[in-house]
Amino acid sequence: MNYTFTPPATVSVPVVGLSDAFPVHRIYCVGRNYEEHAKEMGHSGREAPFFFMKPADAVLYAAPGATTHMPYPNLTANLHYEIELVVAIGTGGRNIAAADAQKHIYGYAVGLDMTRRDLQNDMKKQGRPWCIGKGFDHSAPIGAITPAAEVPSIDQASISLMVNGHMRQSSTIGQLIWNIAETIEQLSMAWDLQPGDLIFTGTPAGVGAVAVGDVLQGDISGLAGIRVAMVAA
Ligand code: MN
Repeated sequence: MNYTFTPPATVSVPVVGLSDAFPVHRIYCVGRNYEEHAKEMGHSGREAPFFFMKPADAVLYAAPGATTHMPYPNLTANLHYEIELVVAIGTGGRNIAAADAQKHIYGYAVGLDMTRRDLQNDMKKQGRPWCIGKGFDHSAPIGAITPAAEVPSIDQASISLMVNGHMRQSSTIGQLIWNIAETIEQLSMAWDLQPGDLIFTGTPAGVGAVAVGDVLQGDISGLAGIRVAMVAA
């Protein structure tokens, strides 16, 4: 097959302990999936899960032990961090029952659902799509993927985000409103999941703004942490 121009390289995320990388298909995100975060955003915390997407090439790989630079995006004066557990799908499927979800999971990673909150809020008010607030370039920093078998107790893991050394978000994966298996069940009713799909599972309370010069340290126990420095574009 000849193409009209050279196709872009496949987006991928390295896997801890392997030389092979995980090729990314789609990025799904769950909205408001921790009760305290739902409340801080003005909601009750009890509602069916809902989803939005980021483009696969929004991935910004943050290697373990390194400081990764994220350019501060344009059009915003209120860029927010959201620390999230990312689930990497290894085996696709549709209408996956929660009881069967585990076998579809390849592994887990630490991710940041970076958000142009001012633009997202404008879109919310007008009943318009969130894309401009959520799906911009470099909006999905993500650490190396750890195979699921190496983190059997992910449901009990702690999740945290520090900004410039100060704790801003701290919770556990057990606090998810819709747990990992239920999220896969719900998501696979709406889309055929494919190998390579990433699922950002939602953020705990404590979201806030960052500025150029700030350093974000994101951790989930058992996974490779990420360190992201905001730099001028
Ligand atoms: Mn989020």
